[in-house]
Amino acid sequence: MIIKSVRFARLSVPLHTPFKTALRTVSSIEDLVVMIDTECGKTGYGSAPSTPVITGDTHQSMLSIINSVLAPLLLGKSVSNINELCNHLAGAVVANSSAKAALEIALYDLWSQGLGVPLYQALGGERCELKTDVTISVDAIDKMLSDCDIALDKGFDVLKIKIGNDLEHDIKRVQAIAAHVGSKAALRLDVNQGWDAKQTVRALRAIESEGIVLELVEQPVKAQDIDGLHYISERVQSKIMADESAFSPKQVVTLLERGAVDIINIKLMKSGGLSRAIRIADIAATYDCPCMIGCMLEGSIAVSAAAHLAGAKAQQISLIDLDGPALGQFDPVQGGTKFNGPAISLNNTPGLGITHINGLIDLPNGVWQ
Ligand code: MG
Repeated sequence: MIIKSVRFARLSVPLHTPFKTALRTVSSIEDLVVMIDTECGKTGYGSAPSTPVITGDTHQSMLSIINSVLAPLLLGKSVSNINELCNHLAGAVVANSSAKAALEIALYDLWSQGLGVPLYQALGGERCELKTDVTISVDAIDKMLSDCDIALDKGFDVLKIKIGNDLEHDIKRVQAIAAHVGSKAALRLDVNQGWDAKQTVRALRAIESEGIVLELVEQPVKAQDIDGLHYISERVQSKIMADESAFSPKQVVTLLERGAVDIINIKLMKSGGLSRAIRIADIAATYDCPCMIGCMLEGSIAVSAAAHLAGAKAQQISLIDLDGPALGQFDPVQGGTKFNGPAISLNNTPGLGITHINGLIDLPNGVWQ
């Protein structure tokens, strides 16, 4: 399969309820969709959201870098040589991880279409049913409790609680949610870099001293504060997970050599796509470190690629946080992975299995509008 063209579109899906973290508030999923066409008439699909405060990527920056630097590297090349194509993308420009991810997802979709099997099988796995947690946005305690009830009613039994705004209030939030939910759901905390190391130890000791068991605590301190993560891990019972600290395979080696964290959160938008995400999962496996597969606030094209990776790497990727599509009011993608509340069912058709996408908006002249 020879690559003929790279096209773009915009895809917008309103959320059931605004998504609030310590870093931002958002009311819709806004994805840049990348389509790679081959001379034999196949199309591979990829997508990426704008996350300037996390990855530095915006829709327009992705459009610009793909148009000017990355797409020209792919035109006329064979998809069969996917490892080399991904290495070219990774080495062509620093950072820009979401732009690389969108292209890599489309390339892996095409590659596995060419092999005639679903992506998770092409990557060597057989798990095709996953169960995701769901995010509870940071808010007033009463609102968070009612959001927990809604999530439980939808069948979710793992809740990822966003906190990190205000230490004392965050402790009260977790205590109230744990008392309210009881044994009906496991709790994961995501602090999104909102505390410092000493605050984290104080908060987690206050929570743990009440007998509250947390499944994990995600990125309590600033991304670059590896010493802080190590300090916390030495002093609390809860397992600590790196998210914003763990973009690249090399960063993951550093974290695990230091013994700074217990779990790595892999996201395609941080790693620059599937090739480096696979590498991270394999590095973590050599340290007997479990991984979560996570996503940004993003739609089902990219999230389905992450789900296929989790299906392929079932042993390493034991924790699933792929609730992006579940937060949207509808799924515009037909034919691929099915997202139904906590249940994710991978397609058994070749590649990502996408047959049609409703509501794609053209982006004339490569301008996000
Ligand atoms: Mg996170």
